[in-house]
Amino acid sequence: MVKYTLNMSIGELPRIDEKYLKRFHKLGLSSVRDLLYHFPNRYEDYSKIVKIENLEQNKVATIQGEIVKIDNIRTFKRRMTITEAIIEDDTGSIKSVWFNQPFLTNNLQVGKKVSLSGKLTKGSKGEYLSNPSYEVLSIYRAPTHTARLIPIYPETIRLGSRYIRYYTKLVLPLADKLKEFIPYEILKKNKLIKLSDSIKNIHFPKTKGIAEKAKQRFAFEELFLLQLFVLKQKNKFQKENAKKIKFNKDLIQNFVKSLPFKLTNAQRKTAWEIFQDLEKTNPMNRLLQGDVGSGKTVVAAMAALEVAQDYQVAFMVPTEILAQQHFKEIKKLIKGLKIGLITSSESKINNKKVKKEELIKRIHEIDILIGTHALIQDKVKFNNLALVIIDEQHRFGVGQRAKLLKEYKNKSVPHFLTMTATPIPRTLALTIYGDLDISLIDEMPKGRQKIITKIISPNKREQAYEFIRNEIKKGRQVFVICPRIEPSKKEITEIDEKTKQLIISPSKLLWQEVKAVKEEYEKLNEKVFPDLKIAMIHGKLKDKDKIMKDFKEKKYDILVSTSVIEVGIDIPNTTVMMIEGADRFGLAQLHQFRGRVGRGKYQSYCFLFSTDGNETSRLKALTKCENGFDLAEKDMAIRGPGQFYGIKQSGLPDLAMTSLKDLPLIKKIREQAKELLEKDSDLKKYPLLKEKVKEFKENIHLE
Ligand code: ADP
Ligand code: MG
Repeated sequence: MVKYTLNMSIGELPRIDEKYLKRFHKLGLSSVRDLLYHFPNRYEDYSKIVKIENLEQNKVATIQGEIVKIDNIRTFKRRMTITEAIIEDDTGSIKSVWFNQPFLTNNLQVGKKVSLSGKLTKGSKGEYLSNPSYEVLSIYRAPTHTARLIPIYPETIRLGSRYIRYYTKLVLPLADKLKEFIPYEILKKNKLIKLSDSIKNIHFPKTKGIAEKAKQRFAFEELFLLQLFVLKQKNKFQKENAKKIKFNKDLIQNFVKSLPFKLTNAQRKTAWEIFQDLEKTNPMNRLLQGDVGSGKTVVAAMAALEVAQDYQVAFMVPTEILAQQHFKEIKKLIKGLKIGLITSSESKINNKKVKKEELIKRIHEIDILIGTHALIQDKVKFNNLALVIIDEQHRFGVGQRAKLLKEYKNKSVPHFLTMTATPIPRTLALTIYGDLDISLIDEMPKGRQKIITKIISPNKREQAYEFIRNEIKKGRQVFVICPRIEPSKKEITEIDEKTKQLIISPSKLLWQEVKAVKEEYEKLNEKVFPDLKIAMIHGKLKDKDKIMKDFKEKKYDILVSTSVIEVGIDIPNTTVMMIEGADRFGLAQLHQFRGRVGRGKYQSYCFLFSTDGNETSRLKALTKCENGFDLAEKDMAIRGPGQFYGIKQSGLPDLAMTSLKDLPLIKKIREQAKELLEKDSDLKKYPLLKEKVKEFKENIHLE
């Protein structure tokens, strides 16, 4: 007999050919170890075994008996094969029916003792078991698919739970080969069951209670690894050397005096936190959080001003439009320094356009360089960089921060200041963003208006257009946001309730219209507002920046856009933000869109249209709440953490994802991880754990 090992490919297991292997790969499973770590997402309770005479209608149960008759019947009308069997035990007999599984008769034959689990259904020709889970009883092994709690797994087409379950059970004894890597004291303190038992019990639990215990262990494990990873990252960073920037009181006082407004207390407080960090010889790694319009740029500008007296500052933003806007803003705020701009399409030093090569050659002259990704990607070699500012940082995750660190790693590491208007729920601040210190601007500049937010029902659309026309007459401008570029039709897959298989049947394809930018633009331009000047902008357009600039200069009345408009755009003359298909966006994102208006002195409005005209709880939350942080917490509660900042694509294990909602658990685990690292910063005493953290780091990509 072949001996299975953890590292063996699934392809080496019996009767798995190329086709099957591909399906396993589709689920991200290649080795036997992966299979053991492919956890069920629920269980079907087939543990109740009854005599046939005691079967009750519409109740799930298991019966065991002998097949006395079995046939495949083809129904030509419905083009289906029905397998019908009669099963008998010492109390009676019952019919069992399966659809489109003619191969069943290869395995289930008259005379065989079988175990069937399913629901008793009543049809026109009497009672029968409909599509029960089945297996031939054996004296050598306990049932796998019936007569117990059976695991239901994440599946793919033509690879259902039954197959996954079969192979998982086959290799389950290998669970004993998995070495425990969580320190014993920690297991004990948290009442966790050990790894091998957890693997066995998560797949084939005797009770729901023990399955839950197994799940708890893995949730703990994943969060624990995440914490160790994040905290190690943090410790590593703190050991680096950075330039010490002494607080320059006169410089900052003069700057503050030159501003056309008074700083808010929150701006002062956060700026002070930053100045204190800059005075240290280890690098700052701080996240500045503040709602849209709370005035983060000025705070960043103060930090830049200080550092740029003696060193260089890099200011990175996610889009070209934003780079240009910041370039202008910073030039206005900071006089007497050399400020550069670098994006993929344009480079400038102060007011002069230069070739990118020239800018790179003359980089030693520049005090503050503002740019997009080009800043890190284009062999830009600063000669004495001491501060990196990253705006709208939710676009850059831990991974990218680590990359930045590597890029700039020479003699000393620059201080890092990242900024975001997308509030980070507390649970995430302590996990995914756990390597950062956080400063919060929790106060808006005085006199900020409340943006009137309304969900517009389909029959009020005309009125909304009339309102917009009026605003434009008054000289204002309008944004219209749509979720997609082109009309798209979305295919919906579903789970077949009977076989628990994922199906995409062409006849059942549901098509759903999504409002599209192009369509909307044409409609508004030709039908609704033929007399107004309308522009369109989306991610695929080449001359986005020109359109944006023209819009800012009032060459257009209405700008129809995809979500590219989301970040940081500042056009104070716009007073209406109209969002089509608003139900398709997350709350945090909707709040960002809304923040595009109300930036000037005019009363502003946000109109929400939903795809199906319904008022979802999310949209209602938006109309009632103007605080981005509360909205983020709500969004997290409603949609889960997966919706945040690409966390879904992060490769973070499912259980960790679910536990990302559990603040007390996160706090507890963070404490314990900290304690462990304080005693043993390099995990020297725990080589297996160290290895696991490394593996964890390689498998996730938080960006
Ligand atoms: P965000 O935090 O969204 O990046 P900005 O830094 O772009 O916000 O600031 C939004 C607007 O508010 C800018 O026009 C800025 O000049 C102005 N602003 C910043 N701080 C104050 C303040 N303390 N009082 C009044 N206006 C301010
Ligand atoms: Mg900003």
